[in-house]
Amino acid sequence: MNSLQNGAFDLSNETTREDFNLLLKALDASISGIILTDNRLPDNPIIYCNKAFEIITGYDRSEIIGHNCRFLQKEDRDQKERAILRDAIKNGKNCVVDIRNYKKDGTFFYNELFMSPIKDENGKVNYFIGVQNDVSLRKKAEQDLRKQQELMEKRVAERTQSLKENEDYLASIVQTVRESLIVLNPEFKVLSVNDHFLKTFKVTTEDTEGRLLYELGNGQWNIPALKELLESILPTNNPVEEFEVEHDFPYIGKKLMILNAHRIELEGQYKDRILIAIEDITDRREIERRKDDFLSIASHELKTPLTTIKGLVQIMQRMVPPGLDEKFSSVLDKTGVYVDRLNNLIAELLDVSRIQTGNIELHKDLFDFDKAVHEAVETIQVATKSHQIKISGSTNENVSADESHIVQVINNLLSNAIKYAPDHKEIDVYLSRVSNFVKLSVKDRGMGIRVEDHKKIFDRFYRVGDIQQRFPGMGIGLYICDQIIKNHGGTLWVESELGQGSVFSFTLPLNKHAA
Ligand code: ADP
Repeated sequence: MNSLQNGAFDLSNETTREDFNLLLKALDASISGIILTDNRLPDNPIIYCNKAFEIITGYDRSEIIGHNCRFLQKEDRDQKERAILRDAIKNGKNCVVDIRNYKKDGTFFYNELFMSPIKDENGKVNYFIGVQNDVSLRKKAEQDLRKQQELMEKRVAERTQSLKENEDYLASIVQTVRESLIVLNPEFKVLSVNDHFLKTFKVTTEDTEGRLLYELGNGQWNIPALKELLESILPTNNPVEEFEVEHDFPYIGKKLMILNAHRIELEGQYKDRILIAIEDITDRREIERRKDDFLSIASHELKTPLTTIKGLVQIMQRMVPPGLDEKFSSVLDKTGVYVDRLNNLIAELLDVSRIQTGNIELHKDLFDFDKAVHEAVETIQVATKSHQIKISGSTNENVSADESHIVQVINNLLSNAIKYAPDHKEIDVYLSRVSNFVKLSVKDRGMGIRVEDHKKIFDRFYRVGDIQQRFPGMGIGLYICDQIIKNHGGTLWVESELGQGSVFSFTLPLNKHAA
């Protein structure tokens, strides 16, 4: 028997009692805990609870009826939800709270409580009905989700901070470099430029940012060859390197610019952008030109008196009176040798300036390659007591080339092999035919060359480290050789390691190929 049946309602009428019992059964079938409290009695006690309420709380109906709902809170009284409940009771309003409750065995659970007043015809609140559900699982999932969210937010904040730091760091580099930089989007619109760009081209950000690269200034970058290279950066990932642009720029006049461009990507920020670095090399090129002019004039001016000295020495050698001291002829011969050396050096300098101005003339003729190599080696061997040069292999080919130039290359490679291997006397020359090319290699066992220098030694005036004291030279022999071989459609290269000797090789295309 519960308190409802105990007379809280008037159940004298038969039909009403039946309806009422049906209602009680329905309430007992609910999976939500349902209670009724009587607001007219002191402390608003529970006067009814259904089965689900007993199951949720673990208390028996007899332990529930007559108690205020707060008995489920046990000592956990410090909950803000209580204030909401109190307010709803005081003002006769509906409310929903998730309140921390405890079962009879002390197990904690989250109770989702819907509370609603039942009023009489005068609006007086006589009862409250409470519907409750154990939502601990949902609550835990919510809490886990919130924790996860907080963690994510923390991570995002950290990542944003580090990206910002990276960006600031990059921006400071971009602003400091002494090159003009432009960043383009995949449609070649300018996204940003650095200060150096603005200063160099005397323009403002409004003149540049948001505009197409090809429309900048007076169309200085609208060059079909450059366009083609830039357009292939993103699809192929091939950078544009050392592209020269000579142009009459607005505000700054005629300038020579060198341009490098790369695809750039900043993880998580952007990809498929193009960074163009532009360097003004007008002054540098002018200085180089003056240096070349000086070299050309100086070597021409030196050559004329030297030719005269050479002639005079030859006359003196012929005029030596018989019976004169041996020493006199020996001094004259030595003078002749040094004049020849000087002549060779000047000839090399002249070659350099001819290459620079594109004035190298090739006199191509068909000649027996192996024979030319043997003769060149013999000539050098006669003048060299310190080293032994051995030839192996053969090409058995005639090549169409400028023989004197090719012999100059062979001489140069052999002289270097002798010069840079003073303590190792074996030098090998290999001859072979490879596909449509003849190939010659000169191998020494001397000091060798670091990999970093393999390319540089073919540059003008480049000499490795500080070898000047031990091995005098001007650093132009290999430059000339490289240019000569290139002019013949071949390649010259080195394979070497420091301390392990070097192998210099070149190829020359055979006639049909050259033709
Ligand atoms: P030079 O011999 O007058 O310096 P080259 O152009 O012939 O000029 O050579 C350039 C540089 O390459 C040399 O200064 C030297 O450092 C290096 N080099 C050339 N040949 C050899 C070699 N066979 N072994 C080691 N180093 C070499």
